Amino acid sequence: MNLYRYCPSCGTPLKTATIENRTRKTCPSCSWVHYENPLPVALAYTVNQSGKLLVVRRAHPPAYNEWALPGGFLESGETPQEGCLRELQEETSLNGRIDRLIGAYHRESEMYGSLLAVAYKVVVSDDSLQINHELYEADFYSCEDIPRITIPLHQNVIEDARNHDSQKPQENITSFTVHPGKIT
Ligand SMILES: [Zn+2]
Repeated sequence: MNLYRYCPSCGTPLKTATIENRTRKTCPSCSWVHYENPLPVALAYTVNQSGKLLVVRRAHPPAYNEWALPGGFLESGETPQEGCLRELQEETSLNGRIDRLIGAYHRESEMYGSLLAVAYKVVVSDDSLQINHELYEADFYSCEDIPRITIPLHQNVIEDARNHDSQKPQENITSFTVHPGKIT
């Protein structure tokens, strides 16, 4: 994490002060205050029509070479849902639709500091994918075949998604319906 040394508004060297019970950098010249807020991230827990989960292997830090859920930082002006689907589309070319919110999570990241992650369950009807430079590989896996995921946040999201789904057995039966002509 890079901390400001100079005021980004007027260029004056910053001072440290206690503002609203926290130590913050502030500008003695123009009173600019460096409020440090979490960065918003969207994660896509993405399932295909057979209920398999999309897992990707990352080709960039953080979590280089780790298996993960697709996702990334929200852009200004987009909703978390839009950011979630955009990241999925960019990384895998898949066009998904939001099924539901799984949860909102806080994490401290060495690389980015405080993160606010919003995770959605996303459903895709066409699961033929094409990965971009951010990934080494990506595929849909059935529950028992999912590669080992070590990122705690992503483990949490998967756990929460499954706990929710297992509470609604009727829905699960529907989502596992075998479609004629598609044998997997
Ligand atoms: Zn200033």
